[in-house]
Amino acid sequence: MIDAPSAPRRAAIIAVGSELLTPFRTDTNSLFVTSTLNDLGIEVVAKLIVGDRRDELSSAIAECLRRADLLVLTGGLGPTDDDVTRQAAADALGLALREDPTIVERIRARFARRGVEMPAVNRVQALVLETASVLPNANGTAPGQWIERGDKRVLLLPGPPREMQPMLEAVLGERLAPLAAGARIYRRVLRIAGRAESEVEQVAQPVYASWAAWTPPVSTSILAAPGQIELHFSVGAPSEEEGRATLDRATAEMLAVLGADVFSTDGSALEEVVGRQLRERCWRIATAESCTGGLLASRLTDVAGSSDYVDRGVVCYSNRSKTDLLGVPEAAIREHGAVSEAVGLAMAAGMRDLAGVEVAVGITGIAGPGGGTAQKPVGTVVVAVAFPGGERVRRFLFLGGRAQVKLQAAQAALNMVRLALDEFLPTAGA
Ligand code: ATP
Repeated sequence: MIDAPSAPRRAAIIAVGSELLTPFRTDTNSLFVTSTLNDLGIEVVAKLIVGDRRDELSSAIAECLRRADLLVLTGGLGPTDDDVTRQAAADALGLALREDPTIVERIRARFARRGVEMPAVNRVQALVLETASVLPNANGTAPGQWIERGDKRVLLLPGPPREMQPMLEAVLGERLAPLAAGARIYRRVLRIAGRAESEVEQVAQPVYASWAAWTPPVSTSILAAPGQIELHFSVGAPSEEEGRATLDRATAEMLAVLGADVFSTDGSALEEVVGRQLRERCWRIATAESCTGGLLASRLTDVAGSSDYVDRGVVCYSNRSKTDLLGVPEAAIREHGAVSEAVGLAMAAGMRDLAGVEVAVGITGIAGPGGGTAQKPVGTVVVAVAFPGGERVRRFLFLGGRAQVKLQAAQAALNMVRLALDEFLPTAGA
């Protein structure tokens, strides 16, 4: 009796290309491949980057096949001498290569559509491992290949992401999804602002620790970015309903301890969340930025449709511009300094009057590396918000270089707007 093929559980990935071993190119293909495989409940147990050397690649393939039952290779399927993936796979698997006349014709036709004759070198792209299935490439010349050898499967994909991605999705959908028997991995990301990673971990850990004992169990990881912490939940579940219900339960438990600091459970960025709040209230926003140099306005306008609620922004870097454009009293700058609650509030209030909008933000701070003092070290940033509920002002001390201080300041400003708006006028359905 022949056993029905089972879905692979363990995969390895090899990104092929000497350029990926230089400081100038990053392997992003393996991230996409990992995410696609994880969605099918397949774990990636190893990934490698190998240069364009046939012998090294062939040893790497053999090694990966000892550790995994599915191996995905990307790159090295081009027409030149340094494209060695086909040959290395043939060496490692002990299979011969043969030319597929249909592929030669397809490549020839592709060149002909551009009025060009197929260069002779392109013929090597028609070399196929015996027993392999050919995977058509809608976006390029190099076809992919799918090889089954005992209980091992090997997938050769082209390097350019726009060629690789649709091919991977098609082949997995056709060949692996039916074997996966419904067990897939479902994920959710909670985004948190206004708390440090260690604080989030301290509060979240006692909650998620018990999830390992759930059926199905939920695993959690924590990722820190400037001004933002992410909690990633994943669960392997036999159906979408069960996956979603389990993640809903985990999300509810986490919201109960982290509260309003969680700004998104659906992948939205902070500027999108604030954009939705403004749109819902039919309010407009204007920004007056010093140390962030327009970054807040830039973030707000990254969102499509933001012209509905973004009115204007000014960068008032010098003291004179704060006075000239926003009417910040010279005396306030003299008495309290340009980086002070008094000046931040005056910037926000001045901007609100000038623009005639509901919400205005003032940001003033010291991004560094120079300009700090003992009382106001580098990283000191004051953010003020003026809105129909009154005024809010906060002083922050951010760590990191100039760019990181700017990033964190813009993020903190967005978060202050979000919290102020929600406290004053809770978002419908929240
Ligand atoms: P081609 O027919 O275009 O030569 P190929 O399969 O030989 O396809 P490569 O030559 O290895 O692919 O790579 C072509 C380009 O694809 C690279 O210059 C790079 O921009 C991109 N690329 C290759 N591998 C990766 C990777 N792992 N991550 C991100 N981009 C990649």
